[in-house]
Amino acid sequence: MPQKAALCLGSDFWHTAPVSELGIEAVMVSDGPHGLRKQTERAADAGLRASEPATCFPTASALGCSWDTELAREVGAALGAEARAQNIAAVLGPGTNIKRHPRCGRNFEYFSEDPHLSGRLAAAMVDGLQSQQVGGCVKHFAANNQETDRMRVSADVDERTLREIYFPAFEHVVTAARPWLVMCSYNKVNGVYAAQHRWLLTDVLREEWGFDGLVVSDWGAVHDRVAALRAGLDLEMPPKLGVSDRAIVDAVAAGGLDEAVLDRAAGRVLRLVHRSRARQPADMDIAAHHALARRAAAQSLVLLKNDGVLPLTGMAGRTIAVIGEFARTPRFQGAGSSQVSPTQVDVPLDALAAALPGATLRFAPGYRIDGSPGPATDPGRSSGPRPATGPVPATGPGPATGPVPATGPGPATGDPDPARNFGPRPARDSRPGPDDRSGPDLVAEALSAATSADVVVVFLGLPPAEESEGYDRAHIDLPDAQTSLLTRLAEAVPGVPVVAVLCNGGAVRTSAWDHAAAAVLECWLAGQATGAAVADVLTGAVNPSGRLAETIPLRLADCPAYLNFPGEEGHVRYGEGVFAGYRGYDALELPVAYPFGHGLSYSSFSYRDLRISQAGSADAGDLAVTVRCTIGNTSGPAGAEVVQAYVSDPAAAVARPPRELKAFAKVVLEPGAEQEVTFTLTARDLSYWSALHRRWVLEGGEFRICVGASSRDIRLSASVTVAATPPALPLSGMSTLTEWLTDPAGGQALRDAMGTRPDGRPGGIFGSEELLAIIGNMPLATLAAFPGSGVTGELVDTLVAAVIERRMEATQGAPQR
Ligand code: BGC
Repeated sequence: MPQKAALCLGSDFWHTAPVSELGIEAVMVSDGPHGLRKQTERAADAGLRASEPATCFPTASALGCSWDTELAREVGAALGAEARAQNIAAVLGPGTNIKRHPRCGRNFEYFSEDPHLSGRLAAAMVDGLQSQQVGGCVKHFAANNQETDRMRVSADVDERTLREIYFPAFEHVVTAARPWLVMCSYNKVNGVYAAQHRWLLTDVLREEWGFDGLVVSDWGAVHDRVAALRAGLDLEMPPKLGVSDRAIVDAVAAGGLDEAVLDRAAGRVLRLVHRSRARQPADMDIAAHHALARRAAAQSLVLLKNDGVLPLTGMAGRTIAVIGEFARTPRFQGAGSSQVSPTQVDVPLDALAAALPGATLRFAPGYRIDGSPGPATDPGRSSGPRPATGPVPATGPGPATGPVPATGPGPATGDPDPARNFGPRPARDSRPGPDDRSGPDLVAEALSAATSADVVVVFLGLPPAEESEGYDRAHIDLPDAQTSLLTRLAEAVPGVPVVAVLCNGGAVRTSAWDHAAAAVLECWLAGQATGAAVADVLTGAVNPSGRLAETIPLRLADCPAYLNFPGEEGHVRYGEGVFAGYRGYDALELPVAYPFGHGLSYSSFSYRDLRISQAGSADAGDLAVTVRCTIGNTSGPAGAEVVQAYVSDPAAAVARPPRELKAFAKVVLEPGAEQEVTFTLTARDLSYWSALHRRWVLEGGEFRICVGASSRDIRLSASVTVAATPPALPLSGMSTLTEWLTDPAGGQALRDAMGTRPDGRPGGIFGSEELLAIIGNMPLATLAAFPGSGVTGELVDTLVAAVIERRMEATQGAPQR
C-alpha cells in the first residue's frame, strides 16, 4: 500500500514516483503550453529559472486568433516532437480557460472568450501533441479566470453558466481529443476546492464526459490529500512527501478511504508510465520549428484597421521611420510558468530591414519599455538621433533574424516559487538595446526620425511587468508615454501614414488613440518569430487572416464581467452569467472598438447563397442541421477568410445571448475563387442548459442561423424551424396553474378531474379565461388556500397522483430506444 500511495504523489517538482522494486520508472512532465519549458535538474535544484532552449510558438492569445485548427494541430505536433526529444511524458497544456475579463493577467495563455473556439483549438493542439506519443494536459479545470487570489478564491458560478461557458471547451477536448491528463485549478468552484470537487472531477469529468486519463493537481493545489483522492484527483504535484503519502496510508488503514479508490488512482499513474514507454526517441528540427513558429504567428496577427496604407509595397527608395523600443526589444511571450527559453528571436527591426530592400529604415526607440519617464532631462544632452539607433541599412533579402545569445537566468521578481518565471524579465529574450534616456529626449528623437519619412511604423505594447501569471492588470491601457508618442507623431507628420503594431497578451484599449493610426496590427504575444511575421504581414508577403478571439471594448467598464471582477472577501461571483464576452456586449447592444471575430485582409470576400436543411430529429437524438454557403475572394491577392456561424433563439424561454458561435471554417481562396462551406449543427448546438431540468434542452421552434465575418458583421442569415418535445415539468402543488395547463399530462389531469368545457379547457376556476391572467401564476396549493376557489388540498393531491400515473404509463408504453 505505501507504494500505491507514493504513486499518487510526484517524487519531485516534475517527476512521478518511481517504484524501483517493481521496475517502474519515474516520468517527467513539463510546462507548456506554447513551448517546452523543461527545467534542467541542475537549474531546478539550484532554484533557478533556466530551462532547455525550445521553440517559443505563438502563445494562445495569438494562436487563438488564427481560428485554424490544422495549424494548432501542427504546433501541437512540433511541441510534442520537442517534448519527445527531451524525454517528456506530458506537456502541461493547453490552457483552456475562458477569457472572462480582459484584466486577467494570464489571458495570454488562453485562447478565447468563446468556448467553441477555445475547445476546437485546444483539442487540435492535444491531438498534435499526442500524435508524438506525448500526453496533453488540458488545464486549469475549472473556472480559473483570474489571477487575483487564484489559490483560494471561490468562483461562484451557476450551473447553467458552467455548462454553457466554462465547461464546453474542456468537454470538447476530453471527448474529441482524449487527453492523457487534465489539470485541476487552484481555485474553489462554488465553495469547494477544484482539487477536492467530486462533482467536477468525477461526476462531470469522468462519468458524463468519459475521461479515462489522469487528473493532476495544479502545482500546490491540494489541501487535503485524502479528500482530493476521494473526489477523483489522482496525482498530487509537487508532492508533499512524507505528509500526503502518510495521510493516504493512514486513511485506508482507518477505514476512511476505500482502497479501491487508491488502486484506481495509482493505476492511472502507471498508465501514464506505460504510455510513456511506447514513445520512441526523436530528433527535433529546430530550424523547421522556427519556420512553423513564423508561419503560425503570421496566420495569427490581426489587422484591426487599415485605410489602405498596408501592405507596404514599392518602398524601394522610400524612408520608413520605425519607432518604438519593442521594434528592437520584442515582447512575444508572457511571464510565469509558461515562459520558455527561445531557440532564437526574430527582431522586427531587422526583419523589416530585410523585407524592404532598397528602403531606408530610421529607428528611434521613442519610449522606455517599462513605461517610466526615465531620468530627468539633462539640458546639456543632445536630444537628436543617436548613432546607435540611427538609420538601419535595408540590405535586401538576407538573414533578418538570428540566434539571440542565450542569456542566463536573472533574478526573479515577485516569484512565489523561485523555480518559475513570474514577473518581468526585461530584455532577456531579445537584443540588448534599451537605453536610459529620458522620455522627452526619446520623443524628440522619434519625432525627428519621422520627419520627412514616407511611412511611420510605431511598435506599441504592454510593459512586461503589467501582465503575468500570478496577478491581474489594474487597467487595460497602454502606457501614456506610448499613446502620447503615437498621437504626437501623427500630428508632427500630417499626411504621412502612421501604422501601429501592438504586442500585448491581454486586450488593450485602442479607442483612446487608434484614430491617429492609419492602420493597426495586433500581434498579441506571437512567439519567437513575431518579428519576421510582422514583416511578412506589413509587406504583404503574407495576407493577414487572424481574427479576434475576444472583443476589444471601447471602455473597460463595458465588459460584461466588470462589476464582478475580481471579487472580494474570497468570492468572485460570475454575475454576468452566460453573457460572457461578445454574448454580453451583443445582448446589451454596446458599441465596441473591435468585435469578436473581426480582422481585415488585403482581399475582400463575398458571402452568398445560404442554404439550410435538416435531417433526423431532436427527439430521436440525431438532428443534423446543415448550413451551406458560398464564399468568394472578390478582390485582392490569395487570402483566407474565417467564416463564422452563429446561432440565435429569438423566442427562448430563458435569457439567451443574441448570437453564439457554433461553427467556423478558415477558407483559403485564390483571387476570384469561390468555395462552398458546409457546417453541421447538432441539437446540442441549439440547446441551452436548463437549471430546472438539469439537462440540455432544445426548445422546439424557430432558430436564426447567422453567417458572417464577426459577431457584428453578419452577412447572411436564415431561419430554421426545429421540432422537439419539451421535457416534462415536475408538477407538484407548488407548480402554477399555467404550468399545469401547458403540460400535456397536467392539462389532462385537470380536465379529468373538473370536466371539459366546450372550448377544451378544464371546468371550474381552472378554465376561466378572464381569471387566468390573475391566477395563472398561482401555485395550485396557494389556490387551495382561498375559500371558494373550488380547489382543495385533496384535489391537488389527486391531480399530482394522476400526473405521476399518466407519465408512468407513457414511459412504459414508449418504444424502447
Ligand atoms: C500553473 C500551471 C503550471 C504549473 C507548473 C502552476 O502555477 O498554474 O499552469 O502548469 O504551475 O509549472
